[in-house]
Amino acid sequence: MFFLIIFLLGLALGSFLNVVIYRTKTEESIFFTRSKCAKCQKKIYWYDNLPLISYIFLRAKCRHCREPISIQYPLIELATALIFSFTFFKFDGFLLIFDLIFDFSILKLAGFLYLLIFLLGVVGILTATFIYDLKYFIIPNSFVIFGVFLTFLNLLITDLSNWSNIEQLNQSSLVTGLLGAILASGFFLILFIITKGEGIGFGDVKFAIFMGFLLQLSTIMALFLAYLIGALVSIIFLLSKKKSLKSAVPFGPYLCIATYTVWLYSEEIITGYWNLIQGFF
Ligand SMILES: [Zn+2]
Repeated sequence: MFFLIIFLLGLALGSFLNVVIYRTKTEESIFFTRSKCAKCQKKIYWYDNLPLISYIFLRAKCRHCREPISIQYPLIELATALIFSFTFFKFDGFLLIFDLIFDFSILKLAGFLYLLIFLLGVVGILTATFIYDLKYFIIPNSFVIFGVFLTFLNLLITDLSNWSNIEQLNQSSLVTGLLGAILASGFFLILFIITKGEGIGFGDVKFAIFMGFLLQLSTIMALFLAYLIGALVSIIFLLSKKKSLKSAVPFGPYLCIATYTVWLYSEEIITGYWNLIQGFF
């Protein structure tokens, strides 16, 4: 039952991301606009706007003008729900729920709600950026600003809750977060300047600040991974002759996949890496 609730929460997030992506593109207000059909402009009733279910029930057509509804909407909803549920599981969210039920305290509840909001936020930013950059070749400033704000707040809260244990600067999340952001964003900025914007977009330079705040020093690992995935995809494209090497593939989606992977698996990656090295020598 808890899994179902978390899955539904993920569906709601996906539905919200669809709105954010669409209205960022059309420059409409995200909160103060009623949803309407892109073709006939008729308002969409709430029962026609339920994630997944309405799409199936309406058989992928607008109730009024019968214009087809893009498969993109239910796909994003489903993908977001799956990613969010998995992330929640990886961060021991379900264990926290059981702990809350059997040993309740207000402090635990606050911690749990905080984790829930933080995970929703980070999954939201990564998913939305992935889709937006892939579709429109740009990372919106609003996504980056929200991401930087959320992760900075998280560093601050982590430090405050851990204040008595911080004896050296490198034990502070704020310090390692800033360092990660400076290294990653600085690296992209240098690349941006020497390639005159050909090698990397300025959106990526800004996005790297969010990566640094989220992953701290593991950001370096995420940069390596992003280039590795980028190289692999380029090879596949070259072999299938679908795209020439020169055609622009946005870098943002690779950054999102790499960030997500390192965010969840940094320890496993480090252990695997050392095992690999020891295997060679
Ligand atoms: Zn319509």
